[in-house]
Amino acid sequence: MTAKMLRFVTLGRAMPEKRGAELRRHDFDEIYREFRPEEAANQASRCSQCGVPFCQVHCPVHNNIPDWLKLAAEGRLEEAYETSSATNNFPEICGRICPQDRLCEGNCVIEQAGHGTVTIGAIEKFITDTAWEKGWVKPVRPRRERRQSIGIVGAGPAGLAAAEELRRQGYQVTVYDRYDRAGGLLIYGIPAFKLEKEVVQRRAALLVEAGVTFTLNFEVGRDASLEELRRRHDAILIACGVYKARDIQAPGVGLHNIVPALDYLTASNRSSLGDHVPAFASGALDARGKNVVVIGGGDTAMDCVRTAVRQGALSVKCLYRRDRANMPGSQREVAHAEEEGVEFVWLAQPEAFVGGSGNADPYKLTGLRAQRIHLGIADATGRQQPRPIEGSHFHLPADLAIKALGFDPENLPEAMGAPGLELTRWGSVKLDWKRMATNLEGVFAAGDIVRGASLVVWAIRDGRDAAAAIQRYLMAKEAGLSATAAE
Ligand SMILES: Cc1cc2nc3c(=O)[nH]c(=O)nc-3n(C[C@H](O)[C@H](O)[C@H](O)COP(=O)(O)OP(=O)(O)OC[C@H]3O[C@@H](n4cnc5c(N)ncnc54)[C@H](O)[C@@H]3O)c2cc1C
Ligand code: SF4
Repeated sequence: MTAKMLRFVTLGRAMPEKRGAELRRHDFDEIYREFRPEEAANQASRCSQCGVPFCQVHCPVHNNIPDWLKLAAEGRLEEAYETSSATNNFPEICGRICPQDRLCEGNCVIEQAGHGTVTIGAIEKFITDTAWEKGWVKPVRPRRERRQSIGIVGAGPAGLAAAEELRRQGYQVTVYDRYDRAGGLLIYGIPAFKLEKEVVQRRAALLVEAGVTFTLNFEVGRDASLEELRRRHDAILIACGVYKARDIQAPGVGLHNIVPALDYLTASNRSSLGDHVPAFASGALDARGKNVVVIGGGDTAMDCVRTAVRQGALSVKCLYRRDRANMPGSQREVAHAEEEGVEFVWLAQPEAFVGGSGNADPYKLTGLRAQRIHLGIADATGRQQPRPIEGSHFHLPADLAIKALGFDPENLPEAMGAPGLELTRWGSVKLDWKRMATNLEGVFAAGDIVRGASLVVWAIRDGRDAAAAIQRYLMAKEAGLSATAAE
């Protein structure tokens, strides 16, 4: 058994059969197979309880990992759950979708010594899923109610973590979201084969039970300006994420069947939630029976290629202008995609999109003219710059092209009616990190809108930090102190 196979077995994930470039048709789940309690205990007991827990240091919420591994190894799961949920509002979500190879597990001393990491994420998921099953997960019950109210813009992980922490302190919390469901990218971005939607929905329901009010289908900027919300609440948290998709400039980019990644993933997630999605039903956002080309090399691109495989695409290619070593997406995701039959076309970019003469729809995409790239000298950021190679064109047949080139922040001062809101040069909200505060009095921010597109666990960390900062601010205000005196 190779080291790689062993790792899949220890993760409890089905080892897929190797079938070359042929797409695997069966619907295997990314989500780890359920551990039996003794398996979880065995795995947890592999932790060496080392003096400096690098796993904890490299976990953005600084989970007390060695302690809950020890408790799990001893079968004391309720205590393990209490320890793990003390630092993380959604441990079962992080256990499923954190890129552990870059965070806790990548820094496990046993992994560094070449013996394969303790599968921290899978155990974290097991502990919290067990807690749900056994009824140990309870809505927060504040010891006393406080009259001040906080308006949170965005029901993604940053907003939800902040809502729970503020409610725990007894504040009145309203979460506004322009979508019809809470969860942000947890519900409509991340595919269901990585994160089951019920897992997100039961968390939102728990917050409702705790007394958090959700005002959905409410877009700040359209239904009320940020200024109006500031008048309604004692403090505001902006946790609206980043949604402006980066685009491609190339001839033919306006042809039919060239779609943004988030439209494609949202349609797939909505239909898995039972919604009727006309663009999915018509086939426009369904990869079934199509030759699919995904353009981009990040985690969103990986989610698109793997979704296309599961929808029954004829072929799935991923076109990326750098090489494997320089791609931003997780290497683990690339390995999974390759096992599923996705073909990576490294060091290549689209030069033009080609439409179908002879088709009933003259604007229908039939393929891409791509060109080869070589990596030139590094720029100021240290990354080698992609340079097209003259005369290196080649053709890729495609019935569906998905653009997954990343996201930038929307123009918030304009979109939310907050002209005074200060931004960084990247368009993210400018923050005084010590106070999680924007330049507007009583307005705080957290998650992707301050970090740029990042990770769920960082959004949770920011949401928790912002909640603590808001509490300090409100207590200082009540005591008649200035905003900064609270520190
Ligand atoms: C396809 C995809 C896959 C990903 N996979 C992973 C993964 O596997 N692991 C991982 O850790 N991270 C992953 N990420 C990143 C992760 O999802 C984000 O970092 C995280 O969700 C950010 O949380 P947030 O709360 O800041 O914003 P979001 O989750 O984006 O939530 C923001 C919310 O604000 C709402 N909103 C926006 N504007 C307004 C407005 N004007 N009025 C009202 N509401 C508004 C939105 O509707 C949304 O619900 C992925 C991202 C994408 C796009
Ligand atoms: S929250 Fe993420 S990084 Fe932290 S222990 Fe859990 S899986 Fe690892």
